[in-house]
Amino acid sequence: MAALARDSGAEFETASEQVRMLSEKMRPVDKDTDENMGQLLDDLLDEAADDVWDYEDFVSDEDRHQNVIRWYGSCLSPSSKPQLGPPKQDVPSHRKSSDVSIDYAIARAIKKHNHKEFASFGPIEHALLHWNTKNIEYALGANVSDLSMKFWDSDERHAFEGDHVLLRQGYGSVIKHLVTGLVRRGDMFKCVLDYDVEKIEYARNSSSIPYTSGGSRKLVELSDTCSVSSRNGKEKLGCDFVVSTLPLGVLKASVAAQVDTSEVDPKTAGNVTFAPKLPFTKVDSIESTGFGILNKVYLQFPRAFWRSRSILDEGQTLFGNASGLNPHHYMFFDIGKSLGREDDCPAILMTLISGREAVACEKLSDDQLVHQVVVTLRKLFFDDMVPTPVAHKVTRW
Ligand SMILES: Cc1cc2nc3c(=O)[nH]c(=O)nc-3n(C[C@H](O)[C@H](O)[C@H](O)COP(=O)(O)OP(=O)(O)OC[C@H]3O[C@@H](n4cnc5c(N)ncnc54)[C@H](O)[C@@H]3O)c2cc1C
Repeated sequence: MAALARDSGAEFETASEQVRMLSEKMRPVDKDTDENMGQLLDDLLDEAADDVWDYEDFVSDEDRHQNVIRWYGSCLSPSSKPQLGPPKQDVPSHRKSSDVSIDYAIARAIKKHNHKEFASFGPIEHALLHWNTKNIEYALGANVSDLSMKFWDSDERHAFEGDHVLLRQGYGSVIKHLVTGLVRRGDMFKCVLDYDVEKIEYARNSSSIPYTSGGSRKLVELSDTCSVSSRNGKEKLGCDFVVSTLPLGVLKASVAAQVDTSEVDPKTAGNVTFAPKLPFTKVDSIESTGFGILNKVYLQFPRAFWRSRSILDEGQTLFGNASGLNPHHYMFFDIGKSLGREDDCPAILMTLISGREAVACEKLSDDQLVHQVVVTLRKLFFDDMVPTPVAHKVTRW
């Protein structure tokens, strides 16, 4: 991403990852306590991970592997009856697992490894442990009670190296750059926007199989292989291949409608119809994969009250909420300082809300949500220090 951004000439800022933890009334949290609690959660996660992988699984790894292959093989075999879901009676072995959620695994580790230190923890230690948990939930967009102990960090080995960066003009600048490059290809590239896809037909005909039309055998034009139709009556697009990047939520709703057409009307529900229906292997993956949710609340203030008392070090833009109030507003970013110029840093703070709290906050109005965040800030600072925001932006995904 950084290479692309550099290529496109986008300006980006390296985001500082140093967080100043605050308890109520701007009291800074002792750095050692902060580090110790972070370390404790890391240790607990390691112990919990070792435990969960140690638990005897229902089948050996090799058997499980074989079972997976046989199971999917039988679904793909044209001779077997098409199946819309796993058989109710005979759950395949690979679906049985000793996996548990992170919170359960940690609780088990605390008991098993006899962690006595918890008895002496006060509210600050609890708030810091909570904060570190929220930090995981932010990264995953889901609560630890919904995350797999075995696989929650399985993408870590694929993580890009390097700093986190903020694009001053947003990701749109990179997209514009990519599109400009493609437009130069003339007829080979066409960009169609505002195209609400209703139906994707794939493998309508194969270019390698001749078909008979009007008594003569013809080779199918390659661009007849797939088609994409819109809900809003726009021209149907014929193409060789379709690579769908529909969000998982849309795919889930679409396959639910594919399995049970009686309940959802694809025309009104925003679902996409696939023709032929997606095979069970794909439906199974779509149904089995979950997704998280993350919302951002941006607040613009008449003045940057958090900058006035040098709470943050030079270059530092993050402060954490260890006040015990609204722990789901766990971190605040001085986004104005990150993206502003030295002589012009707008007074904008941003906080993140993830997991079930993010779902709950989508049910609140902007005013209610903004009020809640202001209440948290007034706890972290002082009532009269935090003015009413002059503008706000809430992402609702
Ligand atoms: C609040 C929030 C903050 C984030 N912040 C960051 C960040 O700072 N850095 C970062 O790297 N990542 C961030 N992410 C993650 C990042 O935005 C996503 O990973 C990324 O956008 C996913 O890209 P995508 O193309 O898979 O899906 P999307 O960006 O969701 O694109 C899917 C597109 O499909 C369209 N669509 C849906 N149905 C149809 C239909 N029937 N017909 C036609 N089009 C359809 C949607 O309108 C949408 O435009 C954030 C995510 C959220 C929710």
